Amino acid sequence: MDLTSPSTIQEIRDRHNFQLSKSLGQNFITDRHVLEQIIEGAEIGEDDLVIEIGPGIGVLTAEAAETAAKVIAIEIDARLIPVLEETLSSFDNVEVINRDILKTDLKEIISEEREKGSFGGAVRVIGNLPYYITTPIIMKLLEEGVPADSITVMMQKEVADRIRSGPGGKVYGAISVAVQYYCDVEKVASVPKEVFVPRPKVDSTVLTLKPLKEKKLQLADEKEFFSCVKAAFAQRRKTLLNSLSSAGGMEKEDVRRVLETLGIDPGRRAETLSIEEFGQLANEVANEKAERNT
Ligand code: SAM
Repeated sequence: MDLTSPSTIQEIRDRHNFQLSKSLGQNFITDRHVLEQIIEGAEIGEDDLVIEIGPGIGVLTAEAAETAAKVIAIEIDARLIPVLEETLSSFDNVEVINRDILKTDLKEIISEEREKGSFGGAVRVIGNLPYYITTPIIMKLLEEGVPADSITVMMQKEVADRIRSGPGGKVYGAISVAVQYYCDVEKVASVPKEVFVPRPKVDSTVLTLKPLKEKKLQLADEKEFFSCVKAAFAQRRKTLLNSLSSAGGMEKEDVRRVLETLGIDPGRRAETLSIEEFGQLANEVANEKAERNT
């Protein structure tokens, strides 16, 4: 069964009386080359565990199952479970879980699989993500410290551009700093909208995120780092002096002193700060607050 063929997809839909859900971001891949790019980008080995987010009708799942030791596919839409039972019936190394990825304890799943001995290699997260929750999915994986060796996922091009952007870039923002704090980011492929059924309005990009074993920054307080980044970008047209002081927590004069101590011009904007500078800023703010409380 060629699951990339639009006529096969239609035939499966007809047989299961399956109406696509726009609100669940159901746009299925119809291009074998894109599947290969995701699989190659993920560097799946034969001892690896693959966690797939949103298998749909199983087109990428089947491709991953050809190589991996085990594939666990997490799909929210219960109507797709009988479809997946059919399309993946020839594989004995695939498990489909009918659950919301945002409410799934991936750490627990991975440690259970490791204990069971179902894989001995790396953990690869893959997926053609439901675009309406791209950022929450990525941030969940990173913030919860899911022990993934790589995360190779397709997303809307504009979101990928933001994630990859560096200081000075127009689309550099809180998500760029957050993801790059946790990971190395590599672009795997550009994917045009024409290769999906139904065709979305936007083009896509596949990125591989490689969580860093050792963090880039020495932070006194990780929470302070993320709140500084959030506050600085909340009003990106304002100067750092204004955005950080209007976020609350510190008086304008304290913000000015912190920035001047670090040699950062208070007139600069968030979009010009490197991740390292955000790290220094967060550490100095933590310092300032600690001193105030003693
Ligand atoms: N992997 C398939 C493909 O590439 O053809 C389908 C990808 S489609 C873009 C996204 C899939 O994620 C859909 O099957 C959708 O039902 C599922 N999905 C949407 N929200 C989800 C959630 N919160 N948790 C798990 N799966 C979800």
